[in-house]
Order: sequence, then structure tokens, then C-alpha cells
Amino acid sequence: MSKKIRTRFAPSPTGMLHVGSLRTALYNYLFAKHNKGDFILRIEDTDKARFVKGSLESLIKVLNLTGLKYSEGVFIDNDGKTPQKGDFGPYIQSERLEIYRKYVDELIKNDYAYFCFCSQERLEKMRKDQQAKKMAPMYDGKCKGLGKTEIEKLLNKKDQRTSKYVVRLKIPKDGFTEFKDLIYGKIRIENKIIDDQVLMKSDGYPTYHLANVIDDHLMEISHIIRGEEWLPSTPKHILLYKAFGWDIPEFAHLPLLLNPDKSKLSKRQGDVAVEDYLKKGYLPEALLNFILLLGWNPKTEEEIFS
Ligand code: GLU
Repeated sequence: MSKKIRTRFAPSPTGMLHVGSLRTALYNYLFAKHNKGDFILRIEDTDKARFVKGSLESLIKVLNLTGLKYSEGVFIDNDGKTPQKGDFGPYIQSERLEIYRKYVDELIKNDYAYFCFCSQERLEKMRKDQQAKKMAPMYDGKCKGLGKTEIEKLLNKKDQRTSKYVVRLKIPKDGFTEFKDLIYGKIRIENKIIDDQVLMKSDGYPTYHLANVIDDHLMEISHIIRGEEWLPSTPKHILLYKAFGWDIPEFAHLPLLLNPDKSKLSKRQGDVAVEDYLKKGYLPEALLNFILLLGWNPKTEEEIFS
């Protein structure tokens, strides 16, 4: 029997839901339903600085209003509480920190990741020097060669400044990373241009890249359907799947909604939040129908869809 189709919508609670994100959610929903699969809502809240209070509740309300029903994840009850349902929880990443820690330890143990003790000042200077030389900003690998005793010493330092560390992914310096995107086709990238991505931040929180890969694997997501802005990060994700020895899911990166000047659709050009449109009185069905026809058409004159 082939694997069950499972898709997820994985927004970050950083503000009102963008129409482009609703389109991503819609494609995930339609693909899951079409294949009699599961559609899941996962909340990616690992960037504490960008958290906006109330945005979790408002995004759940928008999904409810637009009828994009999911079977697992975070829900909202009549008292405004946000219970979670499903066998693969918790579905809020900040409640999964223990899980990420365990997998980071495994990566370090198997030499796929390393501690980095570089100060903000050093990283800043490095970035500026690289920019001045018109090079793409990239970590120079200074901490990659640290020996075991040196690492122990730095980890045990009393001084807050030098005992602070992040964990970085050790990207192989030669060869290529390849994958097939269901929309863009074969993508092949030279490893030497991939940065040693931070996986775990100094506050003990994972970055998006680490948490996303671990959760998609543990939640048995079969198809990752998301915005095109994540396409350049996917090689790092592929390397993580390989480091863990996990099966690689299917990827489909959706083209973004753009302004007429081809920049990413932004507030400066008018409304971008789904709630703004609903508040103005656009019916949820009309909004979905409109979004559906952006970048797709049925090759007939049909314009209205159920
Ligand atoms: N949290 C990411 C976002 O809001 C999700 C990207 C993904 O689907 O992998 O863009």
C-alpha cells in the first residue's frame, strides 16, 4: 500500500494571515482532500522576537471561516482556548523543544553538526568584509575545526559571553545536493555555496530549518507544499534528512503572489491580510475563488468553483 498523503500548513504567528499564505493553505487542503489524505495545522513559533499576540487565534478563525478544515493541530473552542488534537502533537513548536534538543545531540554526535562560539561582533565583521568584497555572506567555518577538549572548555566557561553558542549544520564542502520539486523540476546546487546553517540558537530554540525538518518527518508529512521563498533553503533540508537517515518527502514550491513590479505582494500596495478583505465584506467563498485563479486556470471559461 502506498503511503498516506499528509500535508500541512505551517504558519508562524507573526501577524495577520497574508492572502499568499491562504493560497498556500488552500493548495495543501485541496491536495490532501483530492487524495483522501490528511491536512494538518502546525504552528511554527520558534522566532520569539516576531511573535504577535492574538495572531494564532486570528489565523485559526480565518481557516474556519474559509472552510479549510484540518483534522489535526491547534483548534479554538467557544471560550477562546486553543486545544490541540491529533496523534502527532504537540502541534506548536515551542512545546517541542525537548524533541529538537535530542535530535541536535544526535547530529553533533554523528559529526553532522558542530558548536559555534563566534561572537555577534565577529560574525558582523565577517559579513561586512564579505559584502565589501561582493561575496555572498557565509559563515567561514572557524569553529568547525575545534577539538573536543577545547569545546568542553568553552562550554564550561563561566563568562556568559564566551560560553554562549549556537549549533551549525556541517555542510559537505564538495559535491552537489539535488532534489526534484514537483513544480520547478530538478534542482541541483553546489554544496560549496550552501551556508553552515544555524540549527539551534543560543536561547536553546531551534531555527525554522531544524524544527521544520524534524516535525515534517515525525508528523509523517508526505508532501511539503509551501511558498517559493523556501526553495533556496530546501538543499539544507535535504542534507538534514540525509544526516538523520530519513526518507525525503515530496516538495512543491508555489510561486508567490507579486505586486505589479514583481516584488513580493506587500502592504504598501493595499490590503494583504485576509481579515482586511473579510472585514470589507468580501465573502470567504469569493476570496477563495479569486485566490484559486491566481496562477491557475481550468483551461475553460469556467470562473466559479465550489
Ligand atoms: N513557518 C514557515 C512560514 O510561515 C513555514 C514554511 C514551510 O511551510 O515550510 O513561512
